[in-house]
Amino acid sequence: MAEADRTAAPISLEMIRRLVGFPTVSRDSNLELISYVQDYLTGFGIDSTLVHDETGKKANLYATIGPKDKGGICLSGHTDVVPIDGQDWATDPFEVVEKDGRLYGRGTSDMKSFIAIALAFVPEFLKQPLRTPIHFAFSYDEEIGCIGVRRLLEILEKQPVKPAACIVGEPTLMKPVVAHKGKKSARCHVHGLECHSSLAPTGVNAVEYAAEIVTYLRGMAKRKRTEGPFDPGFDPPHTTVHTGLMHGGTALNIVPKDCYFDFEFRHLPEDNPDDLLGEVERFIAEKLLPEMQAIDPSTGVRFEPISQIPGLDMKDDDPLTQLVMALTGANSTGKVAFGTEAGLFQQIGIPTIVCGPGAIDQAHKPNEYVALSEIARGEAFMRRLLDRVRA
Ligand SMILES: [Zn+2]
Repeated sequence: MAEADRTAAPISLEMIRRLVGFPTVSRDSNLELISYVQDYLTGFGIDSTLVHDETGKKANLYATIGPKDKGGICLSGHTDVVPIDGQDWATDPFEVVEKDGRLYGRGTSDMKSFIAIALAFVPEFLKQPLRTPIHFAFSYDEEIGCIGVRRLLEILEKQPVKPAACIVGEPTLMKPVVAHKGKKSARCHVHGLECHSSLAPTGVNAVEYAAEIVTYLRGMAKRKRTEGPFDPGFDPPHTTVHTGLMHGGTALNIVPKDCYFDFEFRHLPEDNPDDLLGEVERFIAEKLLPEMQAIDPSTGVRFEPISQIPGLDMKDDDPLTQLVMALTGANSTGKVAFGTEAGLFQQIGIPTIVCGPGAIDQAHKPNEYVALSEIARGEAFMRRLLDRVRA
C-alpha cells in the first residue's frame, strides 16, 4: 500500500483537535496555543524561544531539534485564523468534528493541520540523533498581512546560523508551490479645498481628484492585462491592480475637502511594486498637483502604506524544490495567487517552498475542513523528511 493511502495517525488527529480548540482569531491573543506548544516541547526537553508583539499578547515560537550549529530545515506555519463573524457554521468552528473522511473546524486547512503534524512527529524526530536540524517557526498575525513573522525573521537574520531552507505549510494539497504573487496595498488621502458647490471652480474637489487617480490605477490594471508581463503559471497570469474602498465628501452642496481610498497591487514576482506606486506618484506630481496647488498650495495627495508582502520565486532546479518534490512524490510544481510568509523568508536569504495539507479553497470559509487523506499525506511527507535528516 502506498504511504499516502495510510490512514492518519491518532497522534496527529489529537494534535489537530487541540490546536483548533484554541480560538486564535488574529485580533485575539494566541498565547494559550503558544504556551500549550511550548509546554509540549518542554516535555520532550526541547527549548523554544518566544518573540512577542509590542503588546505582549501574541507571540511567535521558534524551536530547534537536533544540532544547533547547522542550517537545517525550518517548518513554518501561522497560528492565527480568520474570524467566523457572519459565517453560517453547521458545527462549533473551534471544535474539530470528524465526518465523512473530513475534519471540520476553523484552521483545519489554513493551517493548523500542518503545524499539528509537525508537532506530532516530535517523538519520531527524537528517536535517533538528527544530522540536519529541524526548526519550528510558528507565527501570529499572518492573516492580517504577515505581520508577526517579521519580528522573528529580524532575529533569525542576525543569527550566526539561520535555517538553510524553509517549508511553509499553507494548504496546497501537498503540491510544492515555488512561487506566489506579492502584494502591496496603500491608502491614498486626497486633501482638497472646501467651498460652496455653487463656487466649485474656486475649490479643489478631493473626490474628483481621487477619481482621476483611481481611473489611472484602472488604466494600469488594463495595461498589465493586455501587455503583461505574463507568467502562465499564475491565475490571472499578470499583475493585478484594484481599488477596494473609497469614501469622501460631506454633502452635495459642498466641494469635498477629503477623499480616501484603499488600493492594492498583486504583482508577479518579476514586477516591482515600488515602481508601480512610483508611476502613480509621478502621474499625480505631473498632472494633478500643479492644477490643485494653483488653486491652493496646501492641497495635496498622501499615501499611507497598509501592507506589503514580497512575492516568492523559487527555481524548479533549486535543491529545496527537488527535495520537496521527493518528499511529496510530486512530479511537478505549482504557482499560486495568494500571498504567504514564504516571500519574507526568501527575502532574508532562506530558500522557501510552500507545501502543506488541505486546500486553499477551504480557507476562510464556513465549514472549513481538511480531508483525512490529506493528513495522511502530510504524515507521509514528514516521515520521508525524517529519513533525510537523521544521522
Ligand atoms: Zn494561511
